[in-house]
Amino acid sequence: MEEAAKLTPSFYDAQAYGIKLEQLDERALEVLETLNDAGFEAYLVGGCVRDLLLGLMPKDFDIATNARPEQVKGLFRNCRLIGRRFRLAHIYFYRDVIEVATFRAQAQEEVVSNRYGNVLEDNHYGTIEEDVIRRDFTINALYYDARAQKIIDYLGAMEDIKAGRIALIGQAQQRYTEDPVRMLRAARFAAKLSMALEGEAERAIREKRELLKAVPSARLFDEVQKLFLGGYGLRCFESLQRYDLFAVLFPDTQTSFAHPNVDFARYSQQMVETALRNTDERIANGQSVTVAFLLAAILWPIYQLQYQGLLKERGSWHSAMYEAIDLVLIAASERVAIPMRFKTMIRDIWALQARLQLLFERYAQQGRRFKKSMLNDEKMINVLQHRRFRAAYDFLLVRQSAGEPVEAWAEFWQRVQEDSQAVALIAQAAALQDTRRPYQRHRRRR
Ligand code: ATP
Ligand code: MG
Repeated sequence: MEEAAKLTPSFYDAQAYGIKLEQLDERALEVLETLNDAGFEAYLVGGCVRDLLLGLMPKDFDIATNARPEQVKGLFRNCRLIGRRFRLAHIYFYRDVIEVATFRAQAQEEVVSNRYGNVLEDNHYGTIEEDVIRRDFTINALYYDARAQKIIDYLGAMEDIKAGRIALIGQAQQRYTEDPVRMLRAARFAAKLSMALEGEAERAIREKRELLKAVPSARLFDEVQKLFLGGYGLRCFESLQRYDLFAVLFPDTQTSFAHPNVDFARYSQQMVETALRNTDERIANGQSVTVAFLLAAILWPIYQLQYQGLLKERGSWHSAMYEAIDLVLIAASERVAIPMRFKTMIRDIWALQARLQLLFERYAQQGRRFKKSMLNDEKMINVLQHRRFRAAYDFLLVRQSAGEPVEAWAEFWQRVQEDSQAVALIAQAAALQDTRRPYQRHRRRR
């Protein structure tokens, strides 16, 4: 607490740093105004201020205030309080949510932590000075005062932004111990913002990366989505490699990158990179993406090893396939919990690879060229009508780009899709698919 009292803020004119009121989310401004008018302090905080300063489009606008959650609730009709570990107010505007958090202190003596030192509970409201220092990186601890149009900086964060430096607030080893996920966040921000980790932030990862193994696998899954579905997934992968963090998330895949068969090792890495590049491009084009497709690619090479091994023992490719799928998904979920619906999708994408190959081979004698008569084949119809046909075909293309010798069948399936009747079959199935948005930001907090 004494430490907090020593902090003195610097104020910067927001306009001079390129932040104009028009750029800000109207609903967030409305919330700020309502809080201010009721006599509370309220600021935009965190990622949105950082991103605006860097000329990036903020993903969301978060607010910090000295109003207690119940007081926030009292001011808005469209407000719901959420969270057990830390109460947050969500203010709803049709589809959008503005999150309002009460200033909170990093709990000290009362802190409830597990044997790894991870903080499990910290329901302690505080002052803005305390709120500043419980955040992770200096660049994430800037506040924007909409009334004065000023940026408030307690930690020299503006200089870090300028220098492109990701520095932890406080002692690096201790901050990683409290919450090991901060290491993944550091790698992600380095990629997203093209910044470098400050020396201690980088060195401490070497000491602390093993602590990530104790983080609940469901939380790691959330982080994997943030890493790979933010539109800069390939850069995140490179960043994770650089800080040796990918191995904690996908240990078997990391091992495959160093497989004694160097061609296989290179191919395994190509699978990951190609799928990520593909996903980044789709996001840039406004197309839908799913983490299942990526996970399917990340785990595909080790699935193949597993399958080849079982095939020798089992004899039947069918049972070897399903057994291998289950084994790989169970092993992967020990670190990164894959929700059931995504496991199902991965299973479908992989199993369809075999069916795409079998049908291609069945028609091999006919010159492998598509003929209308093939559409009378029930197996053909089933594949085309499978809800994951498109994903499976795209996956085949990723395999091809990664160096697998599957050109001939990729071409065959491309031909099939040039036929209007086949297109109709595919479209029919696609229309039945759910149209939920593929990725919605999880608001789960530490
Ligand atoms: P982005 O939205 O681009 O992922 P962000 O900085 O907004 O980046 P969020 O996960 O939305 O990240 O978190 C919002 C803010 O909450 C952060 O800017 C940071 O100040 C604080 N925060 C989030 N996670 C942690 C953490 N693990 N430890 C400390 N502070 C955190
Ligand atoms: Mg954010």
